[in-house]
Amino acid sequence: MRQNFFSHLECSYCGKDFPGDRLWNLCPDCGKPLLARYDLAAARENLQPGDFCCRENSLWRYAELLPVQQLENRLSLGEGWTPLIHATRLGEEVGFQKLFIKDEGNNPTGSFKARGLCLAVSRAKELGASALSIPSAGNAAGALSAYAALAGLPAHVFMPRDVPHPFVAECRALGAHVTLVDGLITDCGRLAAVEAQKHGRFDLSTLKEPYRLEGKKTMGYELAEQLGWQLPEVIIYPTGGGTGLVGMWKAFEELEQLGWIGRRRPRMVVVQSAGCAPLVRAFQENAEFARPWENAHTVADGLRVPAAVGDFLILKTLRESNGTAVAVSDEEMLQAANLIGRTQGLFVSPESGATLAAFQRLRQAGWIHPNERVVLFSTGSGYKYSHLWRK
Ligand SMILES: *Cc1c(COP(=O)(O)O)cnc(C)c1O
Ligand SMILES: [Zn+2]
Repeated sequence: MRQNFFSHLECSYCGKDFPGDRLWNLCPDCGKPLLARYDLAAARENLQPGDFCCRENSLWRYAELLPVQQLENRLSLGEGWTPLIHATRLGEEVGFQKLFIKDEGNNPTGSFKARGLCLAVSRAKELGASALSIPSAGNAAGALSAYAALAGLPAHVFMPRDVPHPFVAECRALGAHVTLVDGLITDCGRLAAVEAQKHGRFDLSTLKEPYRLEGKKTMGYELAEQLGWQLPEVIIYPTGGGTGLVGMWKAFEELEQLGWIGRRRPRMVVVQSAGCAPLVRAFQENAEFARPWENAHTVADGLRVPAAVGDFLILKTLRESNGTAVAVSDEEMLQAANLIGRTQGLFVSPESGATLAAFQRLRQAGWIHPNERVVLFSTGSGYKYSHLWRK
């Protein structure tokens, strides 16, 4: 049996192919994200859904459909295979039966960023990177620090100067070099890129290298497996750079080509903060790309992303899935986070609260129907945001 079905990279915009055996950032021809492609016809011959049930409880259970080639390059801190919780107490409170929470706060470093950085660092190491760098609104920096430490590679992280202290503390404790930048993640991105160029570091900005997406696509595989190789009717996802949303959509396409699911897809919902909602605006304007958001502000650090390189992929996914995009206020997010807390016993981040706030909005509007299965992505735990509960 073949161990791995990774084949090459393909540009998500111009469609050009590139060999997958060396490090790449954006497409050298058009500057858009590259996507990992697999020989799914061969995988279909060799793999069945039933093969997965007894495997390890991490995202490496799907190793044949991930890009890392050698067993010794698989870094692991126990990322992925997070619980899919049927939120019956919360459901009672909001009058809805089939409400589920995918609890990503259970990941190493407390957020789903662990999935993407686990894959990206494993593959960067496999392809010979000697130093790593990342711009981050908070959680991605911690996740990179953790996997770089495990890989024995130096990590350079760039965060906004006003990022809450726990995000900085975590990176320092994990041995990373921390640079605080006046500005937002986009400013961090510019500085990180210049410094990476100068010092020969590999830049792991989201969607600017192809493998963080592969880590996050495992959320789509897991969701299908945990629901008995079925998909829910609606997925609500708190969106910054959109890697998880685009990754899950890619996973569903792969799963269909593998013959493990049919053609039906969930309606995908983007939720952003009213203080930084470039994708909601672009969706409403029916635009192909999103204009950068001015003066972005929100307590949900993971959503403080004024411009996303994968904007057109996110917007395409929303349209193909008959989905929608919703902006909610910071206050609504925190109230919703508290409701999840007191009904389900989960201390969740404001980004996670945002999914429940969006659910309530869409339920009231009649966009979600009573018998549908709805999955809220709780993307991070509340611990690094405890300053928001000071009063
Ligand atoms: C980064 C982050 C998000 C946004 O994720 P993307 O896939 O980049 O859109 C949402 N929630 C939390 C907690 C995050 O750290
Ligand atoms: Zn291209």
